[in-house]
Amino acid sequence: ARQFFVGGNFKMNPASRKDKVALVKLLNEAELDPNTEVVISPPALYLIPVKGSIRKDIKVAAQNCYFKDSGAFTGEISPAQLVDSEIPYVILGHSERRTLFHESSEVVAQKTRAALDKGLNIILCIGETLNEREAGETAKVCEEQLKAVVDVLKESDWSKIVVAYEPVWAIGTGKVATPQQAQEAHKDIRSYLSKAVSSGVAESTRIIYGGSVNAGNCKELSTLPDVDGFLVGDGSNHDLRDLVVVGCS
Ligand code: 13P
Repeated sequence: ARQFFVGGNFKMNPASRKDKVALVKLLNEAELDPNTEVVISPPALYLIPVKGSIRKDIKVAAQNCYFKDSGAFTGEISPAQLVDSEIPYVILGHSERRTLFHESSEVVAQKTRAALDKGLNIILCIGETLNEREAGETAKVCEEQLKAVVDVLKESDWSKIVVAYEPVWAIGTGKVATPQQAQEAHKDIRSYLSKAVSSGVAESTRIIYGGSVNAGNCKELSTLPDVDGFLVGDGSNHDLRDLVVVGCS
C-alpha cells in the first residue's frame, strides 16, 4: 500500500522568523497520524532552523534547487548543498516555477536527475492550466510534463519520487478540483506511468493532489483510490495540523 503523504508548501511565507517559530511550535505540539508521511517546505532561508527545531517525524523539503553541484550561479542552491545540510526532499517543477520563472519541463527533468544523483527525494509537480483543461488537454499536458522526467530516470529512481498533480487553475484560487476531476487525472497519470515506466512503478508511486486543499475538503479527496495525499499551499498556514490527521482518518 502507498503511504499517505501530506506536504506543506509554504512558498514565500511566512514573512517573519517569529511566525516561523510559531508554526514549528504548533506542529511540534500537534497529534499527528503516525501512518502519514509529513513533509514541510519552508523558504530556503528557514530550511536549516526549521530542520533543527521541528519534531523528527516531520521531514523538511526545499522548494527548488539547481542542477549543478556548485559554481557561479548567483541565487541558486544545489542538490549537494541540500544533502550536506541534511534536507531530504526537494519540490521541483512547481507551476509557479514553470510560469513565473520560465522553467521548462526539460529543465525540471535536469534538476530531477541531478537531485536524484545526490540522493534527494523529490516532489515532482505537474498540472494543466484552465485553458488546457477546457481544451480537453489535461491528460496530454500531464503526460508531456512527466515524459521529460521519465526520459531521464531509471525504473529504480521512482521510489524517491512523489508526483504532485496540481491543476494551475486550482492553485491559490479557492477552486478545488472536484473528486471526479482529481480521481480522473490521478488515474490517467498512473496509467501513463504504467505505460511509460512499468506497472510496478505505477502501483507504488504516490500521486498527491494540490490546489486549494483545506481542512474542509481534504476528507473526501483522501478517500479517492488514486489520491495518495496532498500538497498544501495556503492551507499550510492554518489547516496543516487538521489535514495531517483528517487526511487519512
Ligand atoms: P494552494 O493550496 O494555496 O492552492 O497551493 C497549492 C500549491 O501550490 C502547493 O504546492
